[in-house]
Amino acid sequence: MSDNIKNKCSFCGQVLAPDAKRFKGVDGSLICDNCLEFLYDTLLEDTDSLNFTDSESLNFDLTPKMINDKLSEYVVGQEYAKKVLSVAVYNHYKKIKNNLSSNKSIDIEKSNILLVGPTGSGKTLLAKTLAKILNVPFAIADATTLTQAGYVGEDVENVLLRLIQASDYDQEIAERGIIYIDELDKLGRKSDNPSITRDVSGEGVQQSLLKIIEGTVANVPPNGGRKHPHQDFIPFDTSNVLFICGGSFEGITEVVANRLGKKSIGFNSNVVKNDKSEKEIYPMISHEDIKKFGIIPELVGRLPVIAPLEVLEIDDLKKIICEPRNAILKQYKAMFEMDGIELDFNDEAIEHIARKAHEQKTGARGIRSIIENIMLEIMYDIPNEKDVEKCIITKEVVLGTGKPIITKKNAN
Ligand code: ADP
Repeated sequence: MSDNIKNKCSFCGQVLAPDAKRFKGVDGSLICDNCLEFLYDTLLEDTDSLNFTDSESLNFDLTPKMINDKLSEYVVGQEYAKKVLSVAVYNHYKKIKNNLSSNKSIDIEKSNILLVGPTGSGKTLLAKTLAKILNVPFAIADATTLTQAGYVGEDVENVLLRLIQASDYDQEIAERGIIYIDELDKLGRKSDNPSITRDVSGEGVQQSLLKIIEGTVANVPPNGGRKHPHQDFIPFDTSNVLFICGGSFEGITEVVANRLGKKSIGFNSNVVKNDKSEKEIYPMISHEDIKKFGIIPELVGRLPVIAPLEVLEIDDLKKIICEPRNAILKQYKAMFEMDGIELDFNDEAIEHIARKAHEQKTGARGIRSIIENIMLEIMYDIPNEKDVEKCIITKEVVLGTGKPIITKKNAN
């Protein structure tokens, strides 16, 4: 065995310096201290990454309808976005299959996806759930924390490292994973006129993103952090990675309404502008509208699929509280069940939680903290009480004007 192979970390593949710390397995495999630290952190933290190691289990045989049905188990409403996503993802993995096959007749270009919708409407949830359904590794990045090379912040390549880590360093699997890049709209210039308030660093990040999104062999620093010249890199091919970008693109419905107004009836745009509801406008979002937010045309061009999400209304929020597979109410019920107590929220209580969340204008994001606040006192008090059989949360509990209805065992 050459010295290089003897001194290579079996996880990241880096050749270790003679004095570098290492841990040796009984079969002679090595792990370097960086990888050990990473694995330790992964075990401790609640990561957004899922771990997949078995390349056989990648779920590429789902039809769009099957993907949509699965998504609906976790994501309430957003029917149009779910449909668009299901078809796009189906095509994406069909493309990978084609490109990997030995007798392919044509190289199909990939279609990355742009999710446009308000905060808390389910953009991240959709991307994460897709990865779960397809059993591919998943990584999230916030566009606002990324920087172009040479600036303080996180290099775009580090996002790829997270995908490699999420697949337990199985690069073949990582290269078919999904990356979600949130807050893309925040990278835009303030105006679509390049001469005014040009946000140079935002555009630099867009250029860096463009490279990995369109498909390239990127140099990923195996230990994360900033690149430096004497480092070994992991060459990572992004051509089969599915990039899903997301952003709230605040005010986009007005941009669309203006465009429609101008196009359909010339100067008197108000007529059309006012008779279209938000619901009707969302599916009409076009690449032209996205460019108005300062996203460079090349990057917009690499996100050909636009999936718009709608504002969640009170009825949607009520469903989100109760219905998804891992709905927060189901989680609390399971927790109470462990103490032998049946927990219930009556309809009025659920209605008021949904209304409170709606008032916060952060979509479904506020639901968890609203319920956690309500449940804090109850979860503090109940273990002190004996023989509790049932606990019903009412509207008064939600509004802070009353206590839950408690039923005791053996009560006559
Ligand atoms: P966004 O990325 O659009 O800002 P998220 O996907 O992060 O929003 O949503 C925040 C939380 O709200 C999610 O973790 C999920 O619990 C809940 N949520 C949001 N939208 C939905 C939805 N359409 N269906 C079910 N849960 C949702």
